[in-house]
Amino acid sequence: MNLVLFGPPGAGKGTQSKIITEKRGLPQLSTGDMLRAAIQAGTALGLSVKATIDKGELVSDDTVIRIIAERYDQSDAANGAVFDGFPRTIPQAEALDAMLAERGKKIDLVLELKVDDAVLLSRVEARIKAGGVLRTDDTPQTLARRLDVYYRNTAPLIDYYRRQGKLKTVDGMAEIAAVTAQIAAILGGVPA
Ligand code: AMP
Repeated sequence: MNLVLFGPPGAGKGTQSKIITEKRGLPQLSTGDMLRAAIQAGTALGLSVKATIDKGELVSDDTVIRIIAERYDQSDAANGAVFDGFPRTIPQAEALDAMLAERGKKIDLVLELKVDDAVLLSRVEARIKAGGVLRTDDTPQTLARRLDVYYRNTAPLIDYYRRQGKLKTVDGMAEIAAVTAQIAAILGGVPA
């Protein structure tokens, strides 16, 4: 099964992807994690994307399409994957469809986590107050920019996948366990 977890920054995509990964044995393919790992490792890729990520802007389509294809071809994705934070633009979604089609695969389901902006902002503020591990792009100012980018570039994917009949929407404002339960109910009807 190939699944896309979709939603604004802070909606809980990473948290729910990890839970699905554990339950279903599918790898979590997070472009954000891959890019942060490249920054940490100080690779040429990391150096080239750091400023863009810190500003809350999108890295180029070509870059993320290339890293996702390389990652998807590793053996642990043979039975599918959970895409987290990818695709984020229409060209990325089209490239993903083409990449999967070349491999005789397809996206089976897109789960949209729906969360109000005010809740997203208060989640980031709560994380900052709690002094948790901070991402350099997890500040109220950068979140505002990331949200703007989300509505402008990423939200149009909702229609893209709705037209394909693949979109299911989940209330992302519920407690983590309740969101997990909603997702499990949807996945119950999808073959592995
Ligand atoms: P995330 O961890 O998914 O919130 O991603 C963190 C940052 O990495 C984003 O704000 C972007 O700068 C960059 N990024 C991650 N995934 C993508 C993507 N699919 N397309 C473009 N930029 C991305």
